[in-house]
Amino acid sequence: MIGWRTHDPERDAALYVSREMGSAERRRFEAHLLRCDDCWREVSLGRDGRGMVEASREIAPPGLRDDIRASISVAPVPRRLPRRLALVAAVVSVLAFSIFGAAQVRSRNQPPPIAAALTAARTETLAARGPSELPAPNLSSEGLQLVIGERVDLAGLTSDAFMYRNTTGEAVLLFTSAAPFPVAHAATPLAAGVNGWTAQSDGMTLVCGDRPMNYLVIARDPSLVGLVQHGLITEPTPS
Ligand SMILES: [Zn+2]
Repeated sequence: MIGWRTHDPERDAALYVSREMGSAERRRFEAHLLRCDDCWREVSLGRDGRGMVEASREIAPPGLRDDIRASISVAPVPRRLPRRLALVAAVVSVLAFSIFGAAQVRSRNQPPPIAAALTAARTETLAARGPSELPAPNLSSEGLQLVIGERVDLAGLTSDAFMYRNTTGEAVLLFTSAAPFPVAHAATPLAAGVNGWTAQSDGMTLVCGDRPMNYLVIARDPSLVGLVQHGLITEPTPS
């Protein structure tokens, strides 16, 4: 095992910024970034210095260019997260837009808000409109740690979006909205007596329900979707 004591900030930051790290390694590096000024500086330089913003703007469809600008100019700093963590997420947001085109094509048979949510889940990206309106549900009892919470626009559907990771770094996205989510293509109803549906798309599992609020959960691993559902139902009401 190579410890961080012997690490190479320039190399590690380059791997991180170019998204060549596996999810578990990325998770460790994000935790390390919060404490290591050298690595943080390298990641910041990588973000600012390589023209990725301009590249993303050229690749992204017109509507998304505004999202990219918003995610850069309105620095998304959620209330209860360390500033660095929020900035890490912003860096990743910008990068992930470069692969939006491919993700969009695969989700084209979905209603636009579902396609947008799938893209966010596939790329682990949130294009922030600002901090989330509601506080993030605490899912630590399910072994899920909050990564970031944002206000987002899912193709016209305003929503809060929360990203969690389990201990091995797998991500799950939770969207909540005052308005109901559209039904995904080829969805099947949840159990009798429960309003909602589940669907598979783009290698991801989706579950949507309306208790205790309109929610949509998306993850590659179906068991993570179940954990979020369970956590939402059993979460203590904030006092
Ligand atoms: Zn470091």
